[in-house]
Amino acid sequence: MVGAITPMVPVMHQYVTTRHIPGHELPEQTPVVRDPDNLFYLREEVGGFLVGGFELEPKTWAAGGVSWDFTQQLLPEDWELFEPVMEGALRRIPLIEQAEVIKLINGPDAMTPDGHYCLGPVPGVPGFFVAAGMSLNGIAGAGGVGKVMAEWIIDGEPSLDLHEMNIRRFGANYGNTDFVAEKAREVYHYYYHQHYPADETLWARNHRRSPLYDRLAGLGAEFGEKNGWERVNFFRPGEPSRQAADDQHQWGWGRAPYHDLIREECLAARERVALFDMTSFGKFEVSGPGALGLLQRVACNNIDRPDGSLVYTQFLNAHGGIESDLTVCRLAGDRFRIITGTSFLSNDLEWVRSHAPADGSVEVRDVTDDLACIGLWGPSARGVLGQATGDDISNDAFPYLT
Ligand SMILES: Cc1cc2nc3c(=O)[nH]c(=O)nc-3n(C[C@H](O)[C@H](O)[C@H](O)COP(=O)(O)OP(=O)(O)OC[C@H]3O[C@@H](n4cnc5c(N)ncnc54)[C@H](O)[C@@H]3O)c2cc1C
Repeated sequence: MVGAITPMVPVMHQYVTTRHIPGHELPEQTPVVRDPDNLFYLREEVGGFLVGGFELEPKTWAAGGVSWDFTQQLLPEDWELFEPVMEGALRRIPLIEQAEVIKLINGPDAMTPDGHYCLGPVPGVPGFFVAAGMSLNGIAGAGGVGKVMAEWIIDGEPSLDLHEMNIRRFGANYGNTDFVAEKAREVYHYYYHQHYPADETLWARNHRRSPLYDRLAGLGAEFGEKNGWERVNFFRPGEPSRQAADDQHQWGWGRAPYHDLIREECLAARERVALFDMTSFGKFEVSGPGALGLLQRVACNNIDRPDGSLVYTQFLNAHGGIESDLTVCRLAGDRFRIITGTSFLSNDLEWVRSHAPADGSVEVRDVTDDLACIGLWGPSARGVLGQATGDDISNDAFPYLT
């Protein structure tokens, strides 16, 4: 309608309602039951059961776009899809078998790639707000969503930090419907699973790779995923490369078996030297006659330093709260390159763009995919770099933050 990226796909979600079982009517005060082990939830409905749940192989519907005339409708019952949920409920409460089914409700629910709401002003479309992608919690969150949206529209900002729900967390790579659909399905798949600290995304992989990917794979890299990028979590020297896999769920809350490998890498960086592929980091350029003035306004550190300087800074909102945490490099008088976290690119780009003057004196350009980025860190870093360049990289000629 307005050309905005709103990353979400409809995923089928179903619950079944039954008549009450004579002599076994559920009282109105029956607690809501959630049984993650058996993937189902249950509550009382007119003395009978209402059973829903989270299938392990969720189905999307109309992922490419919902037709304009689809409104106030449900989808056909899908008993085959619902079978694992029903089996789980019967395993826990065999009595349900005796209940007569009234109907299987199948509704398309808008799931986002991370399972959080998609709220706020739409980047690049002034005056257009979105409150969608409720990801199975639209009823529970309706009151709060209505409140913060009203604040956003009337006051220009919500009263709560909604970073994790702000639509601007999704960048241009979320315009890929297949990527969004796989991520949304994965969120649904694991919805009732226990989540552990070492969990990694397993679906929707291999969308963005660094030019160093093959070199890193050859060194035994185990890859995780961040904002669509394949990133090295650690290396298993001498072993074949792989992507983080389902075995991570076996470690639970305990110490993951690769901790000793990471310890070796940390010690190498602290005591000697280590190379880091930082290509996934967000990179964008701010240029033009108004560039310095704009950055001086949004950044809390002084950006007006000599060409070639690096400035570590934050972008602050009107309350002094941190909106962005990044590094600004002055490439030339009116040309700056900003490096930010892998998942913060779209957020920070939009913050700068939304504060740019309307007179065309500033150009803001995403250069993330144009540039690789390598870090060389550790006490021996200068010595190693010195062997690769004829330039003077002594501390005097090439100090910290140049
Ligand atoms: C089986 C099932 C069980 C659920 N259980 C729960 C639960 O227990 N708790 C919970 O919090 N959430 C639950 N949800 C999720 C919840 O129902 C949704 O998240 C919520 O309804 C989404 O609200 P919404 O206003 O964003 O979208 P919708 O409710 O889909 O509203 C969108 C509206 O836009 C209308 N529309 C569409 N196209 C047009 C058009 N072109 N012009 C004008 N209008 C249009 C539609 O008719 C519709 O009324 C469940 C969902 C399902 C399917």
